[in-house]
Amino acid sequence: MKENNLLCPKCRSQLVPNKKIVLLAKPPEGPSGLLLLSPILGEYSATTHSAFKLNDGDKVDIFCPVCHAPLGDYMDHKNLARVIMVDDNGEEYDIVFSEIIGQHSTYKIQGDDVESFGEDADIYTNFWGETPKY
Ligand SMILES: [Zn+2]
Repeated sequence: MKENNLLCPKCRSQLVPNKKIVLLAKPPEGPSGLLLLSPILGEYSATTHSAFKLNDGDKVDIFCPVCHAPLGDYMDHKNLARVIMVDDNGEEYDIVFSEIIGQHSTYKIQGDDVESFGEDADIYTNFWGETPKY
């Protein structure tokens, strides 16, 4: 299958150099580190170096590893971060995901269309309500 391009909303750098999304994660305590995520929506494999441990339930702050722009606080929601996805047809989507480690909530958004992924997606459904508006 072809892989989607994922971009930083600020500097539009490619965040998937090879197979994994590379993000800068700042945990509640201690130093920041690199967090690798699957670019496949709904697949939740998170990888870090063994010296950089993140625990389930931790709320991290996500930053672009290139320009260091904060990617969190999507629509003023403290637990949601955003990157941009460009598909094969050049269509752009917002990919919004939870910054809580172990919480599997991802949303693919274009205009009023919200497609959700992950078994915890319901947690934020009320955030958009019945008729999402942007
Ligand atoms: Zn950036």
